[in-house]
Amino acid sequence: MCLFCDIIEGKIPSSKVYENEKVLAFNDINPAAPVHVLVVPKKHFDDINDMASDPEGEIYMGEVIRAISEVAKIKGLENGFRTINNCGEDGGQTVKHVHFHVIGGLKLTEKMI
Ligand code: AMP
Ligand code: ZN
Repeated sequence: MCLFCDIIEGKIPSSKVYENEKVLAFNDINPAAPVHVLVVPKKHFDDINDMASDPEGEIYMGEVIRAISEVAKIKGLENGFRTINNCGEDGGQTVKHVHFHVIGGLKLTEKMI
């Protein structure tokens, strides 16, 4: 069972921001900023490493980048935003379906932590 696969399949509701054939973007349930959207490939990859070793990883990553840019436009982040991917235990990844946080709507500092 994968939470984000269930969201993609519509078994669990989400607040959709953008969708195309290969990716889904929805609002984070516990936002860390005025805008906090998760961009997820519709194919299940555990994390960035899994994506990198899959023959289709490149195609999905290209779609993820375009979706991030679309989300930024939809959410009015013309002044900028931050994209974060948490990978694995030390990266603080809690949902084991690769996803990219798009955070904005405030002035972030240059420090990540
Ligand atoms: P990460 O720590 O990078 O794995 O991020 C997982 C993110 O998923 C967290 O920011 C959670 O708030 C978010 N999240 C967990 N469950 C849901 C859900 N049902 N709908 C939307 N976002 C969720
Ligand atoms: Zn999944």
